[in-house]
Amino acid sequence: MGKNLLCEAQPPKKGWKEIPIGGVILNAPTSLVNKTGAWRAFRPVWDNSKCIHCMMCVAQCPDMCIPVKEGKRLETDFDYCKGCGVCASVCPVKCIKMDEESKFMK
Ligand code: SF4
Ligand code: SF4
Repeated sequence: MGKNLLCEAQPPKKGWKEIPIGGVILNAPTSLVNKTGAWRAFRPVWDNSKCIHCMMCVAQCPDMCIPVKEGKRLETDFDYCKGCGVCASVCPVKCIKMDEESKFMK
């Protein structure tokens, strides 16, 4: 029988005695280590000139990647934005449009 290359590439699985109880992540902040922006297929394009800084997008973004300074939202942190489109759907003045990420790649 031939070798299973997929299994060889995987790290060995831990047994139940080796993992934390309940699968708890013990070391914070792991979310900062993984730049989830690389997953993005669509990019939220924000029109600052139409923004009323209501903070709806800031409050609803599941990745907390829309920064705020002195009561104003700033440009999205594209290192962590996954392109889910929640911000665009909650914006009351529709100043965020989702566009294909491929258009922004060099
Ligand atoms: S697309 Fe999703 S992850 Fe990106 S800024 Fe909007 S709500 Fe946040
Ligand atoms: S929801 Fe729209 S108007 Fe409100 S802060 Fe975000 S981009 Fe600006």
